[in-house]
Amino acid sequence: MKKLLVISLILFTSFVKPENPVTVSIRILTTKVITTFAFSPTSGDYLVYGDGVLLKDYDPTGIFQMSIDKDSILLKTFERTIGKFGSLKYYSKEKEGEFKIKSVIAQSKVRTYDGNLEVGLTADKSQFLLINKVNLENYIAGVVQSEAGKNISLEYYKLQAILCRTFLLSHLNRHEAEGFQLCDDVHCQAYLNKATEDNIVKAVLETKGLVVVDNDLNLITSAFHSNCGGVTCNSQDVWSIPTTYLKSVKDTFCIHSYNATWQRTVPLEDWKAYLQLKHKFPINDSARIPGATAFSQTGGRSNYFVDRNLKIPLKTIRADFKLRSTYFSIEQIGDSIRFNGRGYGHGVGLCQEGAMRQANLGYSYKHILNFYYKDVHLVDLSALNYFKQE
Ligand SMILES: [Zn+2]
Ligand SMILES: [Zn+2]
Repeated sequence: MKKLLVISLILFTSFVKPENPVTVSIRILTTKVITTFAFSPTSGDYLVYGDGVLLKDYDPTGIFQMSIDKDSILLKTFERTIGKFGSLKYYSKEKEGEFKIKSVIAQSKVRTYDGNLEVGLTADKSQFLLINKVNLENYIAGVVQSEAGKNISLEYYKLQAILCRTFLLSHLNRHEAEGFQLCDDVHCQAYLNKATEDNIVKAVLETKGLVVVDNDLNLITSAFHSNCGGVTCNSQDVWSIPTTYLKSVKDTFCIHSYNATWQRTVPLEDWKAYLQLKHKFPINDSARIPGATAFSQTGGRSNYFVDRNLKIPLKTIRADFKLRSTYFSIEQIGDSIRFNGRGYGHGVGLCQEGAMRQANLGYSYKHILNFYYKDVHLVDLSALNYFKQE
């Protein structure tokens, strides 16, 4: 219990703001260049503030249109122009409202979010900066749906919710200098919409507040990837940072899943030129050429390509050829080289397709968590309430 209080205190001081203990601020539509968009409430009444002043004489259930006019935000409804502002805030009168936004760029979808919206401009005033102030658990539900997709088992969603919550809490200061906490892109965690899947909402509720810590009670790096190809990687082999919990494990649960295998063919001459020019591979040394065209990882994962002396990192080859993983073998077929690969992603931590399979087989989220992360523990942030009463 004492340990729990210590971690509670650390988390409390680093994360909880007394006035609003469970709200996070997330930049939305981060990767889109938004210069015109519309906002409308779908649930609850919203108050609208222009430069901090409550605006009057508008229909709170209507559609608000925003565009950039010189260095200001031009706010209109269908009926009239309301004015020009440096910033706008849409705050729900209720505990948590729901709104939708649509940008005017081609093929953009309507997106629905919980919570409040703050509208500003980027430093160069060329596009909108949209920040969603949202309840932490509602945000997690949106992330789980964006990262894992629909129609997956409840038990898997619980695990994904815990990992996404752990990531959130360990990255709350990531975009501090830009005025928000996390972005909605894969740079942080994908957050494309509010969750619509009942099982996701239920999974988030049933794991409310749970995060994962290591033996030293530090929040873990909750790495995950699509498919490990049969064996996960040590963190130090991929990121040069050893941890006690991101250890290579053999995983037979994913080897028949969607992303278990892949193939890629490149011209033999391109491959040889790449090895020679970028890595100084002695391609004209007849004793070593077979190595360049016949590399195998069928016996397990390697970190380096073929030649013992040259030490070419497989992750460099993966990046240069945009391969799905570093877990590949190579064979020559005529004038081509074929990569026969396994898995999809960096291979560290949780293998999503393996975990989904385990969940379908009836394993609990705790069991699956401990399968992919070694010596880790679940901590319940609701202990914070206990702490606050002391
Ligand atoms: Zn980010
Ligand atoms: Zn796997």
